[in-house]
Amino acid sequence: MLAENLKAVQENIRSACEKAGRSYEDVKLIAVSKTKPLSDIETLITCGVNDFGENKVQELTEKYENVSRPVNFHLIGHLQTNKVKYVVGKTVLIHSVDSLHLAQEIEKESAKKNLVSDILIQINIANEETKFGIRPEETEELVRAVSKMPHIRIKGLMTIAPFVQNAELNRGLFRKMHQILLDIKSQSIDNVDMDILSMGMTNDYRVAIEEGSNMVRVGTAIFGARNYNI
Ligand SMILES: *Cc1c(COP(=O)(O)O)cnc(C)c1O
Repeated sequence: MLAENLKAVQENIRSACEKAGRSYEDVKLIAVSKTKPLSDIETLITCGVNDFGENKVQELTEKYENVSRPVNFHLIGHLQTNKVKYVVGKTVLIHSVDSLHLAQEIEKESAKKNLVSDILIQINIANEETKFGIRPEETEELVRAVSKMPHIRIKGLMTIAPFVQNAELNRGLFRKMHQILLDIKSQSIDNVDMDILSMGMTNDYRVAIEEGSNMVRVGTAIFGARNYNI
């Protein structure tokens, strides 16, 4: 079942890319394995998946330590500063940096471990009270501040769009995210890449790709519904 689901998602990505006149290779799929067993990850590895998304630090580190071969784990959930030490060095990309304070902690821990951490800045594009992320108009200021930290490399931006039944409702927000990315990219800030735009989940990844996303985080469409009560 996982293999078939994966194939269907990959086909959707392909057609969204075609529709947008972009190449399939341009978009990276992150399989969001949160709450799912390691055996599901192992199955997907045999299908060629190399990138997995987790939103809890403890779950990420457990899977990181027990997986049969090295794969890329992405931290996509909110990160508390007191847990930074557990993930630095174990994740290829932290998608959810949303404060200077958090960035300072990542800088400190990365320096201690003598490595450079790749991160994305999370934007709360619809200004939803229930969501983490900075306000769009705060983006440049935070990017500029974090860009001065030698053990952090800013790779781009991330957002979690509102939960909607009709993905078209998020199209304008995705477009706005893309514009923010381009605006900051055009300023060529030292130590800032702005090459990754992480947006699009099961309900809206096709629209997100059409609007410029090049990293989609898909859980349910690949693994099936999550059960949080186990
Ligand atoms: C859970 C989660 C996803 C995946 O959501 P689905 O709707 O299951 O595809 C993507 N991004 C983040 C940040 C998440 O927490």
